[in-house]
Amino acid sequence: MARSSPPEGARLRDDLEVVVAGDRVLAYLGNHTYELSVKEAPQIAHFIELYDGGQPVAEIAALLNIPRATADDLLANLADLGCFAGDFRLSERDERPITGDIGFVGFNATTCGMIRRLPREGCTASIADWRIWTAADARGLPGSEAFVGQPRSAVADRMLEPGRVMILPGIELLSDDFTEWVARQSIVVASPGGLSPATQELVNQRCGERRIPWLGIRDVASHTDIGPAVRPPDTPCYVCVTLRTFLNRSVALPPEMRSPPKRQKKYLPSAERAEITAILGMHELHELASPDDTDAPSHITRLDWRTNESRRLPALKLPNCPGCEWW
Ligand SMILES: [Zn+2]
Repeated sequence: MARSSPPEGARLRDDLEVVVAGDRVLAYLGNHTYELSVKEAPQIAHFIELYDGGQPVAEIAALLNIPRATADDLLANLADLGCFAGDFRLSERDERPITGDIGFVGFNATTCGMIRRLPREGCTASIADWRIWTAADARGLPGSEAFVGQPRSAVADRMLEPGRVMILPGIELLSDDFTEWVARQSIVVASPGGLSPATQELVNQRCGERRIPWLGIRDVASHTDIGPAVRPPDTPCYVCVTLRTFLNRSVALPPEMRSPPKRQKKYLPSAERAEITAILGMHELHELASPDDTDAPSHITRLDWRTNESRRLPALKLPNCPGCEWW
């Protein structure tokens, strides 16, 4: 019978445990227990540790003084039992790049950080923003201090690598230009700064009509919310989530009965907050770009800057939601 053999560098699953009991070797994997057939039982636990540490098989066999054939046999055994991470193609899948046209509503330190992280090949980014770069914006993006008072689209032009993005100067949200721009995107990221409910709702509507996946990012002094990643018409939309939050608040404890928020002495500097937000935003963007790869339930990632905790809050579809009734 042909034995499987893991390719060079394949990693063992994190949940694999191997226990040697006398001359028997037991492998625990999830809820299953298997007995491994090996001749040199006492060395096997050492073998697995060294292997997982990245040492070549020939070296380990020499070190433990076991025949190479025994080592290969053990690896084939482990492979047959499914002890290796993924299906050996995991790293390739993980690195699947984002492709298509990614539209950013709002240019700021967070979206700048995301655009800089987009792959150079197979992906275009464009920005729609119509406002002016402020001192608060500049605090988030070192090197942009000199541009305070200039249009954000011009700042994007200066702060991003030349030719990296297509920038639409001064696009008005309520214009037909904006509607047409949204229709051309594969994915939209709405991070206009602050809560910007009107902008988020408009993007929700335009993307919903066109079935375009989109991601909203909202930030206030105390926290930043990333998501939910909306994939119309299947997932909860922005309005589902905000209406639920509003309804929940109406039954929340009165302010005097709530415990005071935990406070840090100082918040993280806004440039670092923007970087953290951009990295986690990229995670959601990857999920939106590879819908087949994800079965994660809809959620909001909340970064609490007072405590430096992050939480995943469930996002649920609201029955008869006025935000996705046209879906
Ligand atoms: Zn909805």
